[in-house]
Amino acid sequence: MSLIERLQDYCLTPAMSGFEDEMIKKLSRDLKDLVDELRVDILGNVIATVRGSNPKAPALMVFAHTDSLGMIVKKIEENGYLRIERVGGVPERILAASNVLLQAKGGKKVEGVIGFVSHHLTPPDEKYRVKPIGECYVDIGATSIKEVLDAGVDIGTPVVYRPSFVRLLNDRVAATSIDDRGGCALLVELAKHLKQKRPAITVHIVGSVQEEFNLRGAMVAAQSIKPLAAISIDLVAASDTPDIAEGNGVRVGAGPVLGTYTFHGRGTLNGLIPHPKLVNVVDKCAKDSKITLQRHATIGLLTDASYVQLVGEGVACVDLALPTRYTHSGVESCSLNDLKDLGKLLVSIVENFPESENFQRG
Ligand SMILES: [Zn+2]
Repeated sequence: MSLIERLQDYCLTPAMSGFEDEMIKKLSRDLKDLVDELRVDILGNVIATVRGSNPKAPALMVFAHTDSLGMIVKKIEENGYLRIERVGGVPERILAASNVLLQAKGGKKVEGVIGFVSHHLTPPDEKYRVKPIGECYVDIGATSIKEVLDAGVDIGTPVVYRPSFVRLLNDRVAATSIDDRGGCALLVELAKHLKQKRPAITVHIVGSVQEEFNLRGAMVAAQSIKPLAAISIDLVAASDTPDIAEGNGVRVGAGPVLGTYTFHGRGTLNGLIPHPKLVNVVDKCAKDSKITLQRHATIGLLTDASYVQLVGEGVACVDLALPTRYTHSGVESCSLNDLKDLGKLLVSIVENFPESENFQRG
């Protein structure tokens, strides 16, 4: 499978936070024959290990999250409509009139739409109002509670944007869950490369769970692996569209991005200032392999690396990112060239990772 085929396969796989099983199966299937050891922990983290040729060299964890954000059924109305709650950062203003897919019992998939007041019946003062999630509802065509339950849908059933994947001009794509199936597809590319050429350092390739929900699934993987350093592969919001005047300067098509600062103060109160020595490694590898590296410092965004850094006696962490437009919608858009370059950068970092670096500060 090529990188784009795998990206498409993963983007079309429904796997909301806490319900990642289809992605866990696919990632395990794709990594199994490429690594020395593969296991899935109790939370669902896929942990694939390639042992290094130098047993004294440090261990590196490279991770991307398998889950996506979505919604969850919180109430079934008498007439078969479903009330929903958000799971992760779902923007309410894009929900009305969208297609959704429910991950029903027994692996069944149920189609639905998020309803709204027909345009012909909307009073003028309602036309520009965004409905909060409490006023939204999913219509699966059912007319009673019994029909809903018979379809395998119940309170607690996950709801995701209907999976889609389209190719745009200039080697770009627009799809559901580029966040973070782009990263997952790169994990396999990395493993393919390491199968051909064993690295000096030991590399743990991890597909983490629950990033969009509580950001802490990857922590559990890091606790058992105890890596010295870790690289998160995820996306960063690009600000190169005509509706963003002041942004982080990140552009789609201009290469992979190094996160220099992330912070999220609402609820999560965490972020990442990457380890300076690890940043040096990334910078050098980008320069040596002639990959243009963008940089960003963004408030309002963070990844599970923010929590991985806090494991044990500390883990040297850095965020590497794929520039992406329209994040957390069903049409997230990125460039395949950026994705390929991010993959090349990752390979270069693993191949050239300093074998005697201890990441001491001061
Ligand atoms: Zn993500």
